[in-house]
Parts: sequence; structure tokens; C-alpha cells
Amino acid sequence: MIDYKGRRALIEAMAGAMIAHADELTALDQAIGDGDHGLNMKRGFEAVLADVDGLAAKPIPDALKAIGTTLVMKVGGASGPLYGTLALALAKELPADPSRADLARALKAAIEAVKARGKSEIGQKTMLDVLAPVAAALESGADPVAAAEAAAEATVPMKAIRGRASFLGDRSIGHMDPGARSSALLVAAIAEKLDE
Ligand code: ADP
Ligand code: MG
Ligand code: MG
Repeated sequence: MIDYKGRRALIEAMAGAMIAHADELTALDQAIGDGDHGLNMKRGFEAVLADVDGLAAKPIPDALKAIGTTLVMKVGGASGPLYGTLALALAKELPADPSRADLARALKAAIEAVKARGKSEIGQKTMLDVLAPVAAALESGADPVAAAEAAAEATVPMKAIRGRASFLGDRSIGHMDPGARSSALLVAAIAEKLDE
């Protein structure tokens, strides 16, 4: 059972990762986007962190619902509504005390919600290219952190079909997708706390 302290640690780990890696995410977005992904995620998670006491006091589904709403409002860009949709869908799917199997099933459902919102599919060089392998790893018993790292790396040779990077066509090849990297960072931050 994840208690108040555990929920608080999870929120602080996610926010801490986005704040610590803001420059790196912005640099990735400078290469194939408009250079704001780090700032967008930092702004969103600083807003989440501002209410960490209130959020950690809520059961996981309620906290995720509040976090999703904050991300939609504060992150902006393409990634705000998409990460917001992910969190809101997870809120709907997860029980208060989720097992690994619950996480796998909820993430798969949330990925479908992101696809619908983004009119996007796996293989288009987006956050989905990390989220889907993470769901598969959760289901198969593989390490979700290693899967996320490898999947973010695997976006480097991909050509972007969705998002701003798609405007570059073939010139999007050779760079890691910023949203894939932020997803991998979030997965690593969550996994580290869940393993403790
Ligand atoms: P913006 O592109 O509006 O400036 P961000 O820079 O914050 O927004 O986020 C860009 C990231 O959002 C991309 O790297 C990609 O991973 C993700 N993304 C963009 N469009 C889509 C989409 N349609 N479906 C899934 N993910 C997307
Ligand atoms: Mg951007
Ligand atoms: Mg932007």
C-alpha cells in the first residue's frame, strides 16, 4: 500500500526529474521543435509541487486526476494536453492500491486515450514510443526503466510524423524526441520510488 509519504515521494521524484532535466529537454526540443519542452514540463511540475501536501493526501486516482488537470492547464503546448490526458486516464483506470498488473492494464488504456487525443500512433517519434514499450515491459515482467531508456534511444533514427518535429521531415532523423525523453525520465523517477 502506498501511503501519504510514498505518494509524496512519488510526486516529488517526478517533479524533481522534470525540473533537474529541464535544460536537457529544452535542448532536445531546440533541435527538432520550438525549444520549450523543458520549460513546459518544468512549469507544469512546479505547479504540481506547489500543492504536494494536498495531492499526497488524496488516494492515487484522485491525485492523478488533480495532477492531470494541472498539467493540461500549466504545461501548455502539445505535451500538456497529452500528459494531462495520460494522467486523467490513469486516474480513471487505477485502483487506490494498484498492483503491477493494474499498472500495465491502466497504462495500456491511457496510451489509447493519448493516441485518440493526439491522433497519433506508435512509431511516429513521440512520447508514445516510450510509453508503449513501458506498458509491454510491465506486462511481461521486464524492467520498465531499461525498456524506457532503450525506447527513448530508439526514437533517434525515427522520422517524426506527429508534432512540430514532423515539420522537419527527414531532418527530424538523428535526434531523440523530447517527449520520449521526458517520458523515460518520469518512468525512471516513478520506478525508483516504487522499488524503495
Ligand atoms: P510543443 O510541440 O507544442 O512545443 P512540447 O515541446 O512541450 O510541445 O512537447 C513536444 C512533445 O510532445 C514531442 O516531443 C512529442 O513527444 C509529443 N507530441 C507532440 N505531438 C504529439 C502527438 N500528436 N501525439 C503524441 N505525442 C505528441
Ligand atoms: Mg516544443
Ligand atoms: Mg511549444
